[in-house]
Amino acid sequence: MMRWMDRIHRLLQPQTVACLRCEREIRGTTSPVAIPIRHSGPREVLSRLCSDCRGQIPWILAVGCPICGRPERCGDCLRRRDRHIDRCRSAVRYDGAMKEWLAQYKYAGAERLEPVMAAMLAASVERMTAEQPIRFDLITSVPLAAERLEERGFNQAERMAIRLSHWYGIPYRPLLRRVRHTEKMSGKSRQSRLADLRGMFAAEPEAQWIAAPQDQPIRLLLVDDIYTTGSTVNECACTLRSANPRFEVSGALWARS
Ligand SMILES: [Zn+2]
Ligand SMILES: [Zn+2]
Repeated sequence: MMRWMDRIHRLLQPQTVACLRCEREIRGTTSPVAIPIRHSGPREVLSRLCSDCRGQIPWILAVGCPICGRPERCGDCLRRRDRHIDRCRSAVRYDGAMKEWLAQYKYAGAERLEPVMAAMLAASVERMTAEQPIRFDLITSVPLAAERLEERGFNQAERMAIRLSHWYGIPYRPLLRRVRHTEKMSGKSRQSRLADLRGMFAAEPEAQWIAAPQDQPIRLLLVDDIYTTGSTVNECACTLRSANPRFEVSGALWARS
């Protein structure tokens, strides 16, 4: 009898929802911290963050460089001659809080953060299509080295790209693979990073058979988590475009350092 009463009592209690990041209970309606995204899918995910967590997200709202999307004006992109990527946009700045979120997701196996990261990334896709109303034909992602994939069990860029694919109705194709392993890139100079990346990726055979109506480009959206110098996405774009000259590659990144 008591158990039955308990159950009724619990049903009458208002449902408590835990924040997808900090797991603290969200009380009442969360305060309306603006989310710079229109699609209801990613908006719904981000509404499941408490207002503290939502307030920590350092959205990049102004684009200073039309090529790499950084908030400031930038000489790097104008100087770069071997540019294969059309443009990149990142959703957030890679600050201390975002470092913590990414580490929680990547290494602490916090899978509940996966939709959150993907939902944030949606802001960079929407910014691109708002600036220039283009329709992407395919979405792909920067591959992870086999060793890393083995130790982590998943490729975060691919996971995020697949979620974007569902939300925006852009087919996902794995078009790249790693052909050799590099040591950690952090701490290396720009020049040695570039040299290290040469020959790092190969296009999947499928890439060269993807066709488009005559004279039409095939617009690819390439997804990765962090933008540092842009050399990884640029090298991926170079590999893709050598496999199929019809490809036009834009980069959607979760955060930029
Ligand atoms: Zn929270
Ligand atoms: Zn730039």
